[in-house]
Amino acid sequence: MPDAGPLLDTHGRVHRDLRISLTDRCSLRCTYCMPEQGNEWLARESILSTDEIVRVATIAADAGITTFRLTGGEPLLRRDITEVVRRLAAVESPSGPVQVAMTTNGIVLAEKLDELIDAGLNRLNISIDTLRRDRFAALTRRDRIDDVMRGIAAAAASGLRPLKLNTVAMRGVNDDELQDLVAFALDHGAELRFIEQMPLDAGHTWNRSTMVTREEILESLSQRWELTPVPGRGGAPAERWRLDGGATVGVIASVTAPFCGACDRLRLTADGQLRNCLFSTHEFDLLPALRSGAADAELEEVLRRCVWAKLPGHAIDDPSFLQPARGMNAIGG
Ligand code: SAM
Ligand code: SF4
Repeated sequence: MPDAGPLLDTHGRVHRDLRISLTDRCSLRCTYCMPEQGNEWLARESILSTDEIVRVATIAADAGITTFRLTGGEPLLRRDITEVVRRLAAVESPSGPVQVAMTTNGIVLAEKLDELIDAGLNRLNISIDTLRRDRFAALTRRDRIDDVMRGIAAAAASGLRPLKLNTVAMRGVNDDELQDLVAFALDHGAELRFIEQMPLDAGHTWNRSTMVTREEILESLSQRWELTPVPGRGGAPAERWRLDGGATVGVIASVTAPFCGACDRLRLTADGQLRNCLFSTHEFDLLPALRSGAADAELEEVLRRCVWAKLPGHAIDDPSFLQPARGMNAIGG
């Protein structure tokens, strides 16, 4: 294992993107992510402090990470979220300042957006699976679509670009809205990104038959637009297409067209566990080193070991596939 240079795994993949989960708490209870009730929350004392997050992020940036994506749970529920963004935006990697992105459900975004942008937020993904109030309430188990719409409107008006909207496509739930969701995104100057539903729900109820595949999404969109592939995907999870030669749409086909071979992502959970894959069943615990006065070099070694241990792919299709014990809200999407 190299002890300097970029974060490299045994398959030659260089890691540039650190997903930082700020909390496992959330203002919604999306069916594909969290249970309606009875979630086992992370222990409060294990949640990383902002100083601890910034320390790990700075060490990661020194080792070549160039983007921090803040996620959760709902990252905007973290009380000092603006401070977290401000401090992470000030981190430098050897190639220059890092980019700070966030994935949010948008619920309190309208109130917080100006201060987040002022603090240095560079990019935003907002999740929206349906445009219909009844469906939104059933899917998220909360009647909060108006708050999300205000958040999306604020983001559209802010000029923060690229702006992305995330939609998990689900059979019999929102598969009749795919074109409408794309049109909605276009109206807001945003790119819609469809995500294939993955086996990461807390109830372990994922079933391939309820997942809408990349092929089905493209089939639906091509009824309304001419789709032209956008070349140069690199390590990005989304494949992108131009719609009638203009604006773009993306599909993240983690299940039917996995992109593990180009994966450059590493995850830090809110309780200080490093994960080299969404689907990891093994984690690398940073807490003991972080809380026992270890030197930066020791923390960096844990980062490098975690990346080095990364498997070639997530193997959802393998009969031996095991869904991780944590739900998506506790991993960080
Ligand atoms: N709460 C924020 C949000 O919803 O945007 C951030 C965390 S959420 C876990 C990040 C992304 O993961 C969201 O776009 C959500 O739709 C997606 N997601 C959650 N569970 C998923 C699953 N089982 N399969 C695919 N995507 C999922
Ligand atoms: Fe909350 Fe995001 Fe999970 Fe929905 S997907 S329950 S908004 S963490």
